[in-house]
This record gives sequence, C-alpha cells and structure tokens, in this order.
Amino acid sequence: MKRVLLIHTGGTLGMRGRRPHALKPGAFLSTLRSRVPELFELAELELDLFSNVDSSELQPESWAALATRLHQRLGDFDGAVITHGTDTLAWTASALSFMLPGLDKPVVLTGAQRPLAEVRTDARLNLIDAVTSALQGPAEVTVCFDSHLYRGNRVRKVSAGEYDAFDSPNCPPLGVLGVDARFEAGWRSKGRRRVEPTVDAAVFLLKVFPGLDPQVVLPMLPHLHGLVVEAHGSGNFPVQSERSLLPVFVEAKRRQLPVVVVSQAQRNGVDLSIYESGQAALEQGALSGGDMTSSAAVVKLMHALGQFRPGRKLGAYMATNIAGERTG
Ligand code: ASP
Repeated sequence: MKRVLLIHTGGTLGMRGRRPHALKPGAFLSTLRSRVPELFELAELELDLFSNVDSSELQPESWAALATRLHQRLGDFDGAVITHGTDTLAWTASALSFMLPGLDKPVVLTGAQRPLAEVRTDARLNLIDAVTSALQGPAEVTVCFDSHLYRGNRVRKVSAGEYDAFDSPNCPPLGVLGVDARFEAGWRSKGRRRVEPTVDAAVFLLKVFPGLDPQVVLPMLPHLHGLVVEAHGSGNFPVQSERSLLPVFVEAKRRQLPVVVVSQAQRNGVDLSIYESGQAALEQGALSGGDMTSSAAVVKLMHALGQFRPGRKLGAYMATNIAGERTG
C-alpha cells in the first residue's frame, strides 16, 4: 500500500464548538479516525501533528519549519497532505513552493469551511480528494478544495462562507476530482529535492487606494527590507496630486529597497510599460510582479531577501518563474 504523510497544522477542519461559541482547535487525530475511516483504505497514513492553531497564527517561521519537516520526512512517503486553516492557506502554499525546490512528490494542502466533526461538512470530501491527489496528482505544492486541485502559489481565498473557497484566476486547475479524478502533468522542478527555508519577514504589502497619504508610508521604509505595492489595474498609482506615491518609489530606491508591483485586479497582471505611473516606477527600479498574487509576491520577496542582498540577483529571481507562480 502507498504511504501518505498527513501533517496537521490546524484550522476549522479540526476544530470543535458551535456558534455563538468560538471554534477552537479539537482533538484532530481521534476525530479523523472516527469521521473518515475510509481515508485509511486509500493509503497507509502517518499522522504528524505540526500544530493545532487557527491559520492566522502561522508566521513565516512556521513556513520554514514546515518546509524543513516535509523535506526531512518526504523520502519515506509517496506524497504528503497538509491540513491547514483556509485563511492563510494561500500564503503557506506559496512559501512551500519556493522553499522546496526540486520537489518530486505531491504536497497537497487542504482545509474545510466546516469542521470535520459536523455532519454537514466539506472536510470529508476535501480530505479524501487531497489524499487521492497526493497519490496520483502532480509532484508540486498544490491546494485541493471543493473537487479541484490548484497550483499552490496561484490560489486566492475567494469565499469565506461557501465550499468553493479557492480559485486560481491566472492558472487553470491542475486537477478535477469529479466522477473520475483527472490531473495535469504539473510544474517540472529542476534539480534534486532540497529545502531552502530562508525567509526575511521585513516586507510590507501596500495596497494603493484613493486617499492614501504618502506621508504615512514614507516613515515605514526605514523599517523594511522589501515592499510589495498592490497597485490599480496594470500597475497604476497616483503621480500628480499632493498624494503622489512617486516619492515612496524614489525613497525606496535611495534606500536600495526592492519594490515589486502587483495588481489589485484578480485576472491578468501588471504591465508597467503602459501608463505614466508604471513607467515612473520602472525608472525608480521597481520590479514587475506580472500576474503573481499579492501573497505569492510577498512570500517570494521574503524568501528572496533571505537568500540574496538587494540587487541584480534578487531582481532576476523575482522576475523569473521559479515554481509556476507567474506567467512568463
Ligand atoms: N480561521 C480559520 C483558519 O484559517 C478558517 C478556516 O480554517 O477555514 O484557521
């Protein structure tokens, strides 16, 4: 029988309690055995309790520890499933995709909108589909949710209350688990499987909005090692009024702070060559995040800053498609 490593980090899937009482982490392993016994017919499962927390508690250091744990243990298994809260699942999935280059086995993250212990729950099907994907799916970091398998560093949480909680607008699903389970070949990773758990969390994600005062942003820059700007549309921000954000780009350049621009639009990505503000950002050395999600861009920048000093190498890393996170 094939072997799957099941790492639990926490989230609603393993929680207990009912409204109006807050959901709290529950006894995951016993619940799993009693609520989804058929899971153990699909594969020999080994359970590993990494943590049992709401996913908003997980931090960049948690991603590094999880990547290291996976790297240490994956050799003994055919694939891995990670149960995770949905709120920051996209962040962890992105981080693992960068921290585990050369991945040659499926690593599938899943979660649920309702706890496994409840009768009406999406957790049972998500778990069964995730284990199926860990056995048959592509050898990369993926997210399995509501009968679909997505590339991990492409997903966004799109619903807080429906079962189709995730989508990857710029990357077609890598699998559909309907009557049949069908999978794409997936991302081809180069080199041996290894772990690069470096991370520098001194990154800020700045969402541009009408009324944003650059004077609020500028004092933050000395505390940062990198900045991701979530701009309008193709990469736009104001440059003409007293609220011009150009001084932020100028000051970031002076401080040798890498700036990556991504889009608030969910589909397609930024093209800094089209409009005046994008061109001005390019002149200040800003990097185009292409069609990366904001979470993938932030995590990739944290990971890059852990490896390289600001400069050409870091810029090239951000512009290169490392793990399928950007188109082109
Ligand atoms: N707050 C929960 C978490 O992210 C939500 C969920 O699991 O769906 O841990």
